Amino acid sequence: MRGAVLYEANTPLQIEDVSVDGPRDDEVLVRVAATGACHSDYHVMDGTWHGPGYPLPIILGHEAAGVVEKVGSSVRTTRPGDHVILSFAPNCGRCRMCTIGRPNLCTGMVSPPGRFQDGTRRHRKGDMEINCFGRGMSSFAEYSVVHESAAIPISKEVPLTVAALMGCAVMTGVGAVLNTAAVEPGSTVAVFATGGVGLNVVQGAVLANASRIIAVDLLDNKLDYASSFGATHTINASRQNAVEQIRELTDGLGVDYAFDAIGDARVSRACYDAVRRGGTAVVVGMAPTGTEIPIPATIAGEEKVVKGCFYGSTRPAVDFKRLVDFYQRGALKLDGMITRTYSLESINDAFDALSRGENARGVITPTN
Ligand SMILES: [Zn+2]
Ligand SMILES: [Zn+2]
Repeated sequence: MRGAVLYEANTPLQIEDVSVDGPRDDEVLVRVAATGACHSDYHVMDGTWHGPGYPLPIILGHEAAGVVEKVGSSVRTTRPGDHVILSFAPNCGRCRMCTIGRPNLCTGMVSPPGRFQDGTRRHRKGDMEINCFGRGMSSFAEYSVVHESAAIPISKEVPLTVAALMGCAVMTGVGAVLNTAAVEPGSTVAVFATGGVGLNVVQGAVLANASRIIAVDLLDNKLDYASSFGATHTINASRQNAVEQIRELTDGLGVDYAFDAIGDARVSRACYDAVRRGGTAVVVGMAPTGTEIPIPATIAGEEKVVKGCFYGSTRPAVDFKRLVDFYQRGALKLDGMITRTYSLESINDAFDALSRGENARGVITPTN
């Protein structure tokens, strides 16, 4: 089988003949039908995320859907032939976080960087072992092995290209609004950075019946995407002061909720400044380790809330099916989100387009 290997930051992914081990008892082998090009992959490719936490060589890819090829002996939730959305955050189902209904924060599936929980790696080229992304996933390949909890069966009527997006951008963006923030109908919302995740924050705000949805970005084409997905107002922050504009659009108050969909300390701070007294700033994007958000110590007087959001506070087994339902009744616009599809051979073109901010989402189809 083929996989796209990153050997060194700032060099192109290399398409290699690789083999895959598994599945083990509690794992699933999935033929990857579609996998999105996401900023989290790009952060490793361009060296923003580096060091011992991101060992190379690695096969990246964490936003994917496919068809179950084979299951381990103890797997009960899925079977060969099922269409599945993959989750990049497997959960144990037994730890305290899992049992209180917060499986995205599971502490029972800790694994060494680049490896599965049992310390092994699954892709190899000859004698060379290749690292996986996060807690056990490598979807920039024809086949990926994941833990049972990370393969959620869905209806076969949903195109797998669309289903792939639900595995990261859609879950993160929509989940930030519906799960993490629990935005009430009629609320005012601002979304900073309308890439793949931010556009889905916009869609989540539409689902939540927000009264105003203000999109902020530096690129006009991304603001056009935001409008087409339901933003009621747009602000190009390269030309205007976003916080001042947001106040102007909300009778001087600020919005009820602001979302940082990029993970940049200055943007997070702008979200804090853009919310009204008692409002909530949600940090959705993953900032580089070691950075800090400066928050005024006078926070008590304004009762503002700053909230982190990992993976849309997802409970994959519940939420992926909910996203599919939203899509099937036309409440989530996802067909228009896939600007282009790419073969595995042209995966580097997908990331060139991502680095230039061209696509709403580029999707790679390794086995089509
Ligand atoms: Zn992602
Ligand atoms: Zn757990």
